[in-house]
Amino acid sequence: MKKRLLPFILLLISIASVAQQLPTSPNFKANDRFEQLGTILPTPNTYRAASGAPGREYWQQRADYDIKAELDDDKRRITGSETITFFNNSPDELKYIWMQLDQNLFKKDGIGATSRTGTVSEKGMSVAQLQAMNTGRGSSLDPKTEYGYEIKSIKDKAGKALPYTINNTMMRIDLPVAMKPGTNLAFSVDWAYNITEYYGRSGYEFFAKDGNSNYFIAHWFPRLAPYDDVNGWNHKQFLGQGEFALIFGNYKVAITVPADHIVAASGECQNYAQVLTGAQKQRLKQAETSKTPVIIVTQTEAEKAEKRENKNPGKKTWIYKADNVRDFAFASSRKFIWDAMLTEPYKNGRKIWSMSFYPKEGNPLWEQYSTRAVEHTLKSYGNRTFEYPYPVAISCHATSGGGMEYPMISFNGGRPEEDGTYSEATKYGMIGVIIHEVGHNFFPMIVNSDERQWAWMDEGLNTFCQYLAEKEWDYNYPTRRGEPNQITDYMSSDPSVLSPIMSSAENVIGLGPNAYAKPATALNILRETVMGRELFDHAFKEYATRWRFKSPTPSDFFRTMEDASGVDLDWFWKGWFYGTEPVDQDLVSVDWFSIDTQNPEIEKELARKEAVRKQGTISKQRDLADKANTVVGQDSTMADFYNTYDPFKVTNADRQRYEQYLSGLSQNERDLIQNNTNFYTLSVKNKGGLVMPVIVKMEFEDGTDSTATFPAEIWRFNDGQINKVITTQKKVVQWTLDPYFQIADIDTANNSFPRVAKPTRFQIFKQQQLRRPANPMQTEGAGKLGTTPRN
Ligand SMILES: [Zn+2]
Repeated sequence: MKKRLLPFILLLISIASVAQQLPTSPNFKANDRFEQLGTILPTPNTYRAASGAPGREYWQQRADYDIKAELDDDKRRITGSETITFFNNSPDELKYIWMQLDQNLFKKDGIGATSRTGTVSEKGMSVAQLQAMNTGRGSSLDPKTEYGYEIKSIKDKAGKALPYTINNTMMRIDLPVAMKPGTNLAFSVDWAYNITEYYGRSGYEFFAKDGNSNYFIAHWFPRLAPYDDVNGWNHKQFLGQGEFALIFGNYKVAITVPADHIVAASGECQNYAQVLTGAQKQRLKQAETSKTPVIIVTQTEAEKAEKRENKNPGKKTWIYKADNVRDFAFASSRKFIWDAMLTEPYKNGRKIWSMSFYPKEGNPLWEQYSTRAVEHTLKSYGNRTFEYPYPVAISCHATSGGGMEYPMISFNGGRPEEDGTYSEATKYGMIGVIIHEVGHNFFPMIVNSDERQWAWMDEGLNTFCQYLAEKEWDYNYPTRRGEPNQITDYMSSDPSVLSPIMSSAENVIGLGPNAYAKPATALNILRETVMGRELFDHAFKEYATRWRFKSPTPSDFFRTMEDASGVDLDWFWKGWFYGTEPVDQDLVSVDWFSIDTQNPEIEKELARKEAVRKQGTISKQRDLADKANTVVGQDSTMADFYNTYDPFKVTNADRQRYEQYLSGLSQNERDLIQNNTNFYTLSVKNKGGLVMPVIVKMEFEDGTDSTATFPAEIWRFNDGQINKVITTQKKVVQWTLDPYFQIADIDTANNSFPRVAKPTRFQIFKQQQLRRPANPMQTEGAGKLGTTPRN
């Protein structure tokens, strides 16, 4: 705007404007929310580049495994022997190597038990809970059984015993000669352990009705700990909450189980010819060309097997091969139904098996949805990262809730009622957990982050991709995590229990919201509101591609997202990942300015309205009724010129003055004055602390509306309080910040100007509580077993 015009701008027409002095929060330091991350990130080096890509001398270790194991169904025990070939690709000499003994978490005096906290509840406790207090271990553990590894022998290639030291869930093997860089070492370990009841990651599930158990076997063999450029040996203890840090290798695994069991495992089975019946092999052949899942082991066959008519079925050995995986897991049971299809998810000629294994207790849900959800996940994740590189992806049904991921195989909950009906939550929970756990193949099974340290790097990125995959499954999918307004409860909770996302997985409070929901939501906001889909998707794909089959750290992610998009996101990582402040923008005031046109026809009319408004006092209105009784009212000689003079009447002198004024203006200046532009000054306070874009909706006098978005950089000179001028032709009657719930603002009551009162509905206590049935299929008699309803 030209300066000359400034003197003409006057007339503040107040719409309840409050020009108050705003207090400044002591938390607001001098705009440090926009300072670069700087030394918070590690210095780039030749292993990890400043761009966030692997550096020119990036290296990682590798271990190949040849494992022979036997599952004893009667004793619920597993015995194994493994030969490991460990490749020292590091530039360092290694005098010892560290192995992970995760099963030792369940040992009686192990760190899992001794570091557990809890109290006795006076409201009552179950026997299992009390026993857990007594042993210090999880309530699913049998107090009479000793768990944890029995290490029988550790020998080098020549059969000579290697000395070792066990430190809780870690074991150090001392080498007679230090391993030089670029060399490899073969050694073998013999071991056994008793299998725990399924505890969320692995174990057996016992079915009292038919006396059989399903086995989900994971973190079951002693595994190499990573040795890398960031931490040296990664040997943080396994305390149960933090997951795994692992290295890639090739696996050959022979699993011996009762002959009536069906096995599902990481990798490709090498000997279906020996372990399957003729009919099953036939069906597997059909599945190779089917676009929908084909049943390989039928429910009838599984139900017959679980009756155990043959008391001594003997044993069978299933042989698997899995290349370039960071782990290996398997499931085994005589209760398994199995369906599969071999499809081309990327339409490029490469076929991948999608498979599911489930007991009859999973039907009808599992038969209908599991394998389809597996294939959908490969497609959806593949499109935003890289093509799934493995030959098979499996979903197994374990117990009723939660899920757990391993390379090519996952153990997932979601079980219908016994009558075959299921709640909406069970259905969407089941599909969601399958997408999530199969999705973990991408993060962290292939983009191999350190889960023990950074839960968000796999859970957060995976939950974000899960959120998108769910919406691609069904537009209306009731996603649980990812929408900005689903994280506001967590972000507005007591700051003393909030840890930053950048916290160690083993000690973070509220792992679900912290490591899953908050990072997933942050990435969703980054994509939709900060960067835009195009820039985000390119950068995210670049990160996944750069780090597939490698081990990234948080800074590699942060740097790559900026490097590939050209967007400075340091403020975003700082606020969302290193901080715990919530978003709360407060629309403190809106001041309305318009230009004095000097046109007497307009200005005098406005002045008249304002004068009338100001004179509209209640006493004046009441006095009006007595007008006839006043002195002037009763005696006309008491009136003169001023009793009828209208100061707001436009005179010829007024018009001449206006014409003269206009003739002195350029066309541009005349346009600006004559087109009734409104100038609004918005005063927005950053009450929560986390800086975000400012999104403001304007509702106009004529019923239309429009939305303006300003980037987070709007806060760069003052991250506590800003003013922003918005010009409109139409008059704004209502202002709303974040009208479409994009930025996770924890308090929307202060987002509107003028303030809008939101109704809260409450029930009178006497009124009967209305309870929504948890399972409408049951109450409405729909969906008996075998007739799966679609709605
Ligand atoms: Zn997960």
